[in-house]
Amino acid sequence: MDSELLRQYLEYYSDLGIKTLYRRGTVDARGAGAIVRRDREEAVTAEPLFRILEDIGDCRRCRLHEKRTKIVFGVGNEQTKLVFVGEGPGADEDAQGIPFVGRAGQLLTQMIEGTARKEGIPILRKDVYICNVVKCRPPDNRTPEPDEMEVCGQFLSRQLLAIRPKAICALGATAAKYLTRSREGVTRMRGNWHKWQDIPVMVTYHPSYLLRAYNQAAKREAWEDLKKVLHFVYD
Ligand code: URA
Repeated sequence: MDSELLRQYLEYYSDLGIKTLYRRGTVDARGAGAIVRRDREEAVTAEPLFRILEDIGDCRRCRLHEKRTKIVFGVGNEQTKLVFVGEGPGADEDAQGIPFVGRAGQLLTQMIEGTARKEGIPILRKDVYICNVVKCRPPDNRTPEPDEMEVCGQFLSRQLLAIRPKAICALGATAAKYLTRSREGVTRMRGNWHKWQDIPVMVTYHPSYLLRAYNQAAKREAWEDLKKVLHFVYD
């Protein structure tokens, strides 16, 4: 197990209040969201999302809390097989406390529902889960700073461990880089499978990028990426 994964496991169990881990125990190959066996064969299952939300509370762990209106935790089906991860809330999301409800969000909804309908996959936006790397709006929609992503990223990791989706779709460069730790640009990464822990990650363009009028080719590519991820998850 690499040290980053080990660090996340330890943080996760520490958050669950488990301070002692037994060396001879084995972590199930499916990862921390599955059942973890310890010497005494006691089973520990992943925490539910509400526990993570409770833990976030009125978060002031990083400077992003100073200008936020609402914390934007995530929305959708906790039992889903597919999670979309964006960068961070914009103005509309900050006002409503729900991710991807502004113009970019409406495009994302159309993309998910339109592609699914065309491909004969019976899902709507409410059937997937949508969240962001950071839960508070960065002022003026700037890119979150690395330290903000590290602090807030523990909650994203715990959300992903709680849901254990079959695949993750990273929307844009920030989510792609954060999840995969790759230094490649999104243009090179998109359309290909990467990994977050053992979960496949499809990278595609951020819907805000697609809203720019000159991005017709990128739009087509994003639709292809989405088709790929939907078939992988639901076929
Ligand atoms: N952009 C994001 O990355 N996330 C949102 O929730 C809205 C816009």
